[in-house]
Amino acid sequence: MDVINPALQKYSEDHTTSENDLLKKINRDTNAQVMMPRMLSGHMQGRILSMISCMVKPSTILEIGTYTGYSALCLAEGLKPNGKLITLDINEELESRVRDYFADSPFSDQIDYRVGNALAIIPTLTMNFDLVFIDADKENYARYYDLVINRVPLGGYILADNVLWSGKVLDEKVDKDTKAIKEFNRKVQEDSRVENVLLPVRDGILIMRKVRS
Ligand code: SAH
Ligand code: CA
Repeated sequence: MDVINPALQKYSEDHTTSENDLLKKINRDTNAQVMMPRMLSGHMQGRILSMISCMVKPSTILEIGTYTGYSALCLAEGLKPNGKLITLDINEELESRVRDYFADSPFSDQIDYRVGNALAIIPTLTMNFDLVFIDADKENYARYYDLVINRVPLGGYILADNVLWSGKVLDEKVDKDTKAIKEFNRKVQEDSRVENVLLPVRDGILIMRKVRS
């Protein structure tokens, strides 16, 4: 389901800075060689993530759901000079590919990529996160939110992707993932610790700013 008319989408892309060569390669390789390439953020969303990160200028970013590393490299563009991005993914099959991409980027020393279950890894991380990008299994969005919210300082941001879930959030009868996304969106809306805006871009990006502890 297109949230925006395809011609306007194309016009918007034509007036958005292009991807750099490495991101183009990751986009191309992922579409040609990896299962479920639709999960990759892509040109427009990647530039939005980069733009947000450049506005926030985070010292520490946590990404939950690396996939082929595309969004991690977009978010890393906004890091402070000695900032760090920790990115987590459970899929071991993508590990060597993703490590190669990160090594080819200017951020290789700043990216800490860990392969494993994010639900188990996050509680072992001791730092705070100025910016969090939640983009792993939809069923666990609310759990990820609960795991990170106390580690985000006041004024820090959490982003969650795919919160419109191809428009299925409007359906009455829903599957497990849709139910989880709807519950997550409602939980955030009712949580006075954050101010939030749901950007109806691509598959929906929920932007949250922590305003109260
Ligand atoms: N952020 C990427 C896309 C992520 S796709 C981009 O925008 O380009 C979702 C990823 O979440 C998949 O690679 C999947 O392996 C990962 N994932 C699913 N469950 C997970 C879990 N429990 N812990 C860590 N990663 C998980
Ligand atoms: Ca996504």
